[in-house]
Amino acid sequence: MSTLFTKIIQGEIPADIVYQDDLVTAFRDINPAAPTHILIVPNKEIPTVNDLTEEDEQVAGHLFLVAKKLAEQEGVAENGYRLIVNCNKHGGQEVFHLHLHLIGGRSLGPMILRQ
Ligand code: AMP
Repeated sequence: MSTLFTKIIQGEIPADIVYQDDLVTAFRDINPAAPTHILIVPNKEIPTVNDLTEEDEQVAGHLFLVAKKLAEQEGVAENGYRLIVNCNKHGGQEVFHLHLHLIGGRSLGPMILRQ
């Protein structure tokens, strides 16, 4: 069965897609944590970072280059932003289709909630 993000990539579920090419698709997070919150997703279904293989090297690097481009487009590059990839339970991953969160547009505070 396709992941939620594959359905978005294939246009079966609506989303605010801001960028798409042969390797990745980027769309706005439905529950944004900041004024800019974009998810950058490989078109190929890779569940988590743990599932990356050497053949995914190009797409993994491409996620960062697209993030850089979108940060500029969103006007957050200069002030700065945060890129987050959650993995599995302790990482707080909810959707098991690898994605890079691009979050910015305000000061984001400390990197991790300390207990
Ligand atoms: P993660 O916890 O890293 O797996 O992040 C999953 C993200 O997907 C969350 O920030 C959700 O708000 C976001 N999300 C879930 N469903 C949708 C959707 N239909 N469209 C856009 N973003 C979504």
